[in-house]
Amino acid sequence: MLTTLTVRTGAPTEFIDLTPQVAEVVRTSGVAEGLCHLFVPHTTAAITINENADPTVPADILMVLNKVISEREAYRHREGNSPAHIKASLVGPALTVIITGGKLLLGTWQGIFFCEFDGPRTRKVHVKIREG
Ligand code: ZN
Repeated sequence: MLTTLTVRTGAPTEFIDLTPQVAEVVRTSGVAEGLCHLFVPHTTAAITINENADPTVPADILMVLNKVISEREAYRHREGNSPAHIKASLVGPALTVIITGGKLLLGTWQGIFFCEFDGPRTRKVHVKIREG
């Protein structure tokens, strides 16, 4: 089963907690045991798992990514958004989460974050649920 989520971002760089939407896709799939594949079809956005209990954690990750990947390099890409492309490659476009007991097998403090690096934009996240 393939589901495509729409994510509307509201800032140039931003982490958005997608855990509730992904959990709902898993719930409606009816799959009790399997895999949930997540894929971001963009070159300036990404997806990751990290702590969603304390919002300062994704804020700190974003702060350091924005600091380390400087805006002031001699970038050759004329669109002017090379920092966003680099952040997207570092974080990555895909995740797989195990489904067991009809739920995502995430750690207690883990959440799934959509990572915007060149917003605000309307983005997509493909979610493929596989039984097994
Ligand atoms: Zn570009």
